[in-house]
Amino acid sequence: MTTKRTGLIGWPVAHSLSPKIHAYWIKQYGLDATYELFPTPPELLEKTFSELRRNGVTGFNITIPHKQTSMKFIDAVDAVATRIGAVNAVSLRQGMLHSTNTDAYGFMKNLESSPKWSDSALKNVLILGAGGAARAAIVALKDAGCKNLIICNRTNDTAAELARELHAENITWEEKNSHLAEVTLLINATSLGMTGKSPLEIDLSKLYNRAIVHDIVYAPLNTPLLAAAAARGNPTVDGLGMLLYQAQAAFAIWHGITPEVTPELRAHVLDHAGDASPLRHSEPGERAVSPRSGAEG
Ligand code: NAP
Repeated sequence: MTTKRTGLIGWPVAHSLSPKIHAYWIKQYGLDATYELFPTPPELLEKTFSELRRNGVTGFNITIPHKQTSMKFIDAVDAVATRIGAVNAVSLRQGMLHSTNTDAYGFMKNLESSPKWSDSALKNVLILGAGGAARAAIVALKDAGCKNLIICNRTNDTAAELARELHAENITWEEKNSHLAEVTLLINATSLGMTGKSPLEIDLSKLYNRAIVHDIVYAPLNTPLLAAAAARGNPTVDGLGMLLYQAQAAFAIWHGITPEVTPELRAHVLDHAGDASPLRHSEPGERAVSPRSGAEG
């Protein structure tokens, strides 16, 4: 039997947590498989695709900055990835590259697996951001039955276009504080609050006191938004679970086993994030200092 090769295309990818997650499960299930890094600058993307196809890899993840541009090198893109407009998991079957987007699954599964979760949080959702991660989150929220979804983004044209495309509402960046009293789920899907970036400027004083606050940024784990929300007693959900669950879905596609996302896996990823990782700077009240993000998404 030949070793199954899987891995990750991105640029840069050196600090990705995905190898740690996949290696943990490969070992746990005793599989003859690898998860490798395929660092690929944009100008070499096409070449990497043909090499991986020729070498007969089982599958690979795609991360920043290739989630959208990779679509043209893939033979079959499934419905969820088409709606999101980006791919993050590819599998090679009978010489054909098939792809999907497991971020939407990862996003929703992370929320639903949280002990803080309640379906009533889907009543009035405000999502900040209109980039790739926001698109995946919005598709997931719509599929979960969310009817009242407001998109708010620094560049309003992007949010307005996305709201039209995915049948949601739109408010401007300046209006975000004035909607918080009715919000049952507040999501940060911008890169604000991430290590090396500015914090998200938002006034939570009017936020509904039972609103769940979710930050998809996971480096640091305890973002300034989550810290501020927890300080006023709102339930919070961090973004690490989204990374773990999107990996779970990809692993299931490639190996035919749905691995468990456990507290032990979470601890393993945190323990093995490395001294320089932004995840190491995630204790409440502690602010990360590294200018490098180390995060993938
Ligand atoms: P992206 O496509 O580049 O989108 C970035 C978003 O952040 C856009 O909405 C952008 O607004 C906004 N933004 C950036 N700088 C801003 C600023 N100074 N003020 C206000 N808004 C600003 O990135 P992405 O792929 O969506 O990723 C966003 C974040 O999610 C990253 O931190 C990433 O690590 C994280 N993520 C986490 C996971 C996970 O598994 N937990 C998965 C995917 C992504 P404009 O449109 O105005 O530029």
